[in-house]
Amino acid sequence: MILEIVKCEGKRPLAPRESHYTREFWSKLSTGEFTSTRCQVCRKLMFPPRQHCPMCWSKKTDWVSLSGKGKLYARTTVHAGPLMFQQHIPYSVGIIDLDEGVRLIASIIDGDEKIQNDEEVQLIVLAYDDGPLFAVRKIESD
Ligand SMILES: [Zn+2]
Repeated sequence: MILEIVKCEGKRPLAPRESHYTREFWSKLSTGEFTSTRCQVCRKLMFPPRQHCPMCWSKKTDWVSLSGKGKLYARTTVHAGPLMFQQHIPYSVGIIDLDEGVRLIASIIDGDEKIQNDEEVQLIVLAYDDGPLFAVRKIESD
């Protein structure tokens, strides 16, 4: 599944550190694909992507594509944040449970209404001038 890509002006407020290993995640994210790794031995799906399995310590992992769909588990709104995020205050951050069974943290793009816990959300790609970030927003019902 290819995520919606939303163009954002300027540089990312906090650019992630890229390693030789994580470069694949960020490269695919820039094209709208959200990926992580799965253990070849015990099949544990993990996020963030890892070179070894946190359950059985196997170093045999495969890259897998995820749907980016999930539910909001919890949220908070930041009113006093670090300097690098001053222009975004107030901003919201949520804990997201993806349908595939991994939990992650992402910025929340609320749009016109505030997303509530247990509501369905979709990851989107924020395409800044210096690279991508990911965030979530509510899945619009038809
Ligand atoms: Zn494993």
